[in-house]
Amino acid sequence: MKGIVIKSTGNLCQVISDNKKYSCKIKGKNRLIDIEFTNPIAVGDHVEFSYDIKNQIGLIEKINNRKNYIIRKSVNLSHKSQIIASNIDLALLVVTIEDPITSFNFIDRFLVQAEAYKIQSKLIFNKIDLHDSRLELKRKEYQHIYDSIGYETISTSIYDKKNISKIKDLLKDKVTVFSGHSGVGKSSLINLLDPTLKLKTKELSSYHNQGVHTTTYAEMFQINSGGYIIDTPGIRGLGLINLNIEFLSGYFPEMVRASKDCKFKNCIHLNEPKCGVLHALENNTIAESRYKSYLSMLEKNTNYRKNNY
Ligand code: GDP
Ligand code: ZN
Repeated sequence: MKGIVIKSTGNLCQVISDNKKYSCKIKGKNRLIDIEFTNPIAVGDHVEFSYDIKNQIGLIEKINNRKNYIIRKSVNLSHKSQIIASNIDLALLVVTIEDPITSFNFIDRFLVQAEAYKIQSKLIFNKIDLHDSRLELKRKEYQHIYDSIGYETISTSIYDKKNISKIKDLLKDKVTVFSGHSGVGKSSLINLLDPTLKLKTKELSSYHNQGVHTTTYAEMFQINSGGYIIDTPGIRGLGLINLNIEFLSGYFPEMVRASKDCKFKNCIHLNEPKCGVLHALENNTIAESRYKSYLSMLEKNTNYRKNNY
């Protein structure tokens, strides 16, 4: 049978096939493992499995190639990574201007990660019911920056349900990951998209997790208007990646456009002469905040290199 993994907790996983759920074990772990990763199977994997009706347990026989995946560094010292989820069609970052503040840097890191993973991404500006005229201006400033690069931005509020149906349409027939700081309203939004899911919102979940070291697993939910949502508790971004500094600007679409005018092919847009990116920055066709994020990522990756080599 063919199916999709919707939950994976070590050796056992849940697979959905023809709208039915099956508990499955993983066959001869080592033969299936991609040795690069600590977990052999991840939420979102497309698999082939056999099912033992008598014992009500399935056996994963094959994992199809992943079109993409997001990872995080393992908590143990193996230096291996853990796949959080795979075969993602869309990554939505939920952003709030205040309560909590989402910084430009945080947004830009998310977008760079999505570009690196080749996952389409969009930004949701939530809690707009809380905005006075000052915050409203700030939101417009944020949205203008990202809209003009080509990232779609959508503003929402769970109270007047603004644009919720628009998000429902976006998710149709897709596998979507919701990211964002804790408290921005991810669970509240997902519950609005499909009220039968009843994800725990802040007050409840923070009570439960206080001071307890919990291992959290990603989980995939089918929503009744079509599509799947992947909830990644405790993971704010799309995972860590080490970027090659020469490629970094390749993950900023507006820098890619501007760098066509750079004199040097390997220009990293710092202080090189005749640099198209620096020129665009002067002309305000590249936002200062985006360039600052670029510099900060550049610096981080350079430090990373210094410390490791
Ligand atoms: P998560 O940590 O991202 O899943 O955030 P939650 O969904 O748990 O929401 C955190 C808090 O923000 C809760 O108290 C929600 O009621 C509140 N919240 C979520 N969306 C909105 C919104 O659009 N407007 C306002 N005013 N509050 C919201
Ligand atoms: Zn340049």
